[in-house]
Amino acid sequence: MNMPKTFNLLVLTPEKDIPYDDITEMIVNTPDGEIGILAEHMHIIAVVTESILKVNKGDVWHSIVIGQGFLYMTSDIVELYVDSAERAEDIDVLRAETALHRAEERLRGQLSHSEYLRTHAAVARATARINAVKNEQ
Ligand code: ATP
Repeated sequence: MNMPKTFNLLVLTPEKDIPYDDITEMIVNTPDGEIGILAEHMHIIAVVTESILKVNKGDVWHSIVIGQGFLYMTSDIVELYVDSAERAEDIDVLRAETALHRAEERLRGQLSHSEYLRTHAAVARATARINAVKNEQ
């Protein structure tokens, strides 16, 4: 039987790095939509958005919630530079629900354009965290 080719993924954040070795596929969100990456994908640099990154390792899909950043792929490694990342199993749902509530409250008030963008991003992060935990259950 032909084994699928594998590659390595390194998720880098200012606080921690999350490595995944020997994965067969990953799916990540960009401003232009989702992209799927297999081993030997052409080299790319892409912007990534707050969303749930999916990683297939040994035929098991893992969810990692990522913040904004960019992706850099060379021959057999993908580096993902993002402002935050949490494995679904490490997410504190209550904290995410509190953050979502706080951000939604803030959106109801008067905000400058940059405050609006920041708060909108906080809503997207909290929503992705809550959904990632729900999808794992
Ligand atoms: P909060 O207001 O709850 O801090 P936030 O969206 O402002 O939420 P971030 O600035 O995105 O938080 O993240 C700060 C750090 O806390 C990062 O290391 C991130 O991985 C972690 N983090 C944020 N929310 C959660 C959560 N619900 N569960 C686990 N880790 C979290």
